[in-house]
Amino acid sequence: MNRIYLSFSLIIIFLSNNSLDVHSQSGGCGTIVSAQQKTLELTNLITEGTATQSIPQLNRTLTINVYVVKNDKSLPGVSATEIQSAITKLNGFFQPVSLSFKICNIINIDNYQFDNLSAINEADLVSQFSEKNTINLYLTTTLTDNSGIDVCGYTYMPSAGKNYIFIEKGCFAGTTLAHQMGHFLNLYHTNETTFGNELVIRSNCSTAGDKCCDTEADPGLAGLVDNLCVYTGKLKDTSGNFFQPKPKNMMSFSSDECRCDFSRTQFLRMIYTLQNHKKELR
Ligand SMILES: [Zn+2]
Repeated sequence: MNRIYLSFSLIIIFLSNNSLDVHSQSGGCGTIVSAQQKTLELTNLITEGTATQSIPQLNRTLTINVYVVKNDKSLPGVSATEIQSAITKLNGFFQPVSLSFKICNIINIDNYQFDNLSAINEADLVSQFSEKNTINLYLTTTLTDNSGIDVCGYTYMPSAGKNYIFIEKGCFAGTTLAHQMGHFLNLYHTNETTFGNELVIRSNCSTAGDKCCDTEADPGLAGLVDNLCVYTGKLKDTSGNFFQPKPKNMMSFSSDECRCDFSRTQFLRMIYTLQNHKKELR
């Protein structure tokens, strides 16, 4: 009996460690590609151009309203200085296209029941507090996605017509915000398979994977990136070629601290999105 209990405990410990690993490695993302998003994707007309062409400059600043849900001890858990630092860090990632974000208001929400956010109470929260034509960023202590999994962050892709981003307070200082901003502005994971599996030689890069031909085919990097941000996997694509993904891409499931940039085509997709699907943002 004891042995059975011990084995059971070890399985539980293994499973919890594994899920913690995925959480920290991948940033625990809860953003999904919906059926509507797949339809919207058909209308995206993004011209990739060539890598030597200069990247367009947006020269725009978008407004973010930050909502901090207080916990059951009535504490925000995130300071105004930490919020400003996170936005400054975000601006650094978008500097290549001269896009920046500024905080309009930081609003504390006293109802601690929203501090554990899930599909059950999300609609109630956003209907009470969100402001139109701005990016509404919600910070909570725990965040659960549609499948009931604890995640660092999630948002809605442009087809949903929703201007909300949700981030767990514990993940706010990392790259989760920039990753979610990527989804918010129409980027898929570099290992996305909804549109098909991208081949290493990228012959199908415009129709499969993340639909960006300047990002490498990616098998999913959770647990496959070392402390030096080097990919350690030995995985092959369906043609038998070894993957050579880039752990620094913001839309990968690499380690949080390794993710540091967007590709040229990812920027072009986001610019297109702001000019076509998110025109209302101020
Ligand atoms: Zn994601």
